[in-house]
Amino acid sequence: MNLWNIKKEDIKNINFINNTDILIVGGGITGLLCAYNLCNKYKVTIIDKDNISNGITSNTTAKISYIQKNVYSNIYKYHNILTAKSYLDSQIDGTNILLNIIKKHNIDCELENVNSYLFACTKKGLQTLEEEKDCLEKLGIKCFKSKLPINFPSLDSFYVKDTYTIHPLKFTYSILNIIKDKVNILENTNLIKIRKSSDRYLVKTNKGIIIAKKVIITTNYPYFIKPFFIPLKTYVLKEFVVTGEYNIDKHFSAINVEEDSKSIRFYKDNIIYTSNSNRISNYSKVQVAYQKCINDFKEYFSIEPKFLWSNQDVCTHDGIPYIKKKDNLYVITGFNGWGLTNSAITSKVVSDLINKVDNKYIKLFCKDRVCMHYIYFILTNMFYNIKGYISGYLYKNKIIYSKNIKGMKCNVYEDKKGLHIVNSKCPHMKCNLIFNEEEQTWDCPCHGSRFDIDGNPLIGPSNISIKV
Ligand SMILES: Cc1cc2nc3c(=O)[nH]c(=O)nc-3n(C[C@H](O)[C@H](O)[C@H](O)COP(=O)(O)OP(=O)(O)OC[C@H]3O[C@@H](n4cnc5c(N)ncnc54)[C@H](O)[C@@H]3O)c2cc1C
Repeated sequence: MNLWNIKKEDIKNINFINNTDILIVGGGITGLLCAYNLCNKYKVTIIDKDNISNGITSNTTAKISYIQKNVYSNIYKYHNILTAKSYLDSQIDGTNILLNIIKKHNIDCELENVNSYLFACTKKGLQTLEEEKDCLEKLGIKCFKSKLPINFPSLDSFYVKDTYTIHPLKFTYSILNIIKDKVNILENTNLIKIRKSSDRYLVKTNKGIIIAKKVIITTNYPYFIKPFFIPLKTYVLKEFVVTGEYNIDKHFSAINVEEDSKSIRFYKDNIIYTSNSNRISNYSKVQVAYQKCINDFKEYFSIEPKFLWSNQDVCTHDGIPYIKKKDNLYVITGFNGWGLTNSAITSKVVSDLINKVDNKYIKLFCKDRVCMHYIYFILTNMFYNIKGYISGYLYKNKIIYSKNIKGMKCNVYEDKKGLHIVNSKCPHMKCNLIFNEEEQTWDCPCHGSRFDIDGNPLIGPSNISIKV
């Protein structure tokens, strides 16, 4: 359970739909916004393996901000100033799309206009902070030098205006209410496989086959490897969130420039602190990361944690998401922890592609954006994937034991409810799974798939149960 926990209205149970113009796979913020853009013109169906908006979006910290660590100076370094400008414009447009939807439908999602701080905690970070400020100013953004308005061990900081915070589920559930009479919404419907047959897609789900003219994959991380080779071009970042009661006169949001993220925002009388970000392949003991997060929280803010949870997102080499298109199959992924502005803008780009309307961001999101750093990133990714594979292989846990069942190596865990027996390998790319004692899940250290204790898929890329 996290701070956002509110009840969603039940969606009218509709009969299984087996024919649609556009099938959207994934009912997180991205899938919902795609449906919102397209539902007045096409017959649209959303499927979600779970309930709507119960994935990564339900665990976000929901800052709507174009300040995203040192993304602009990085894009400038890896590409050029025009690409940095294009990404900045896309984030401002993404913000405006969200604000316009909120205003048009009078959505009560606790929208707050806050200043966004960027800060440095280390000497090395000070230079990065300066570079990011220079780059933002070159791009026409006014940056205000100022200390963080809270007692926190930062060395320097500045802030920008016109950034926001919301309650994420109040926003997504409102979108669901707006579209629910125009869109077929099928919850607990897991996509298993897609096959192209002449000009249609045959989409196999646990409930039956759906025939669609176009398919948009918004599952956060697509389950398939080919044709876009997403596992090579991205990695999964895991982060830990702690909240506690904290009174402050004026809310703000803040994030540091260093790789290990520390981010702050407020919601009513609560502070929300995110830290301990790392590649998924670097966690073999989630308990250690949780404990560090709690210790930091107590030390910095001198308050007791109230809610504690973890979340993950897909990252690209340059901080810019990917939209991949092949024939009538579209994939949106790689939000780098900035999925609010990015879901708004990428869902608009995909809708424009489908409507055959020009969009100035097609080039930004749809290309592979090859540069020296891209090659380095792919090699590093391969290294970490191998590291994840080996760490899963070497992983030893006293409470788990292995057993061969019909020639298949299985993991066995026993608790008060009895034995939980699952396949020891992730169906996605056969990495060895690790048991996450803290959250009682089986986690893949290579690409971030997670399964519940009985082997049901929780988070992709894998969409297949590992139950035995
Ligand atoms: C700790 C943390 C804090 C963050 N804070 C911020 C922030 O402050 N601001 C910001 O902009 N971004 C933030 N982000 C990022 C943002 O939350 C995500 O990028 C965004 O929510 C992703 O939305 P999504 O729609 O792509 O994915 P999801 O919300 O995960 O939606 C995907 C949906 O697809 C469904 N699905 C998956 N596989 C299948 C399948 N096989 N069949 C059918 N359905 C399937 C899932 O059930 C899920 O509902 C944060 C991320 C993290 C990790």
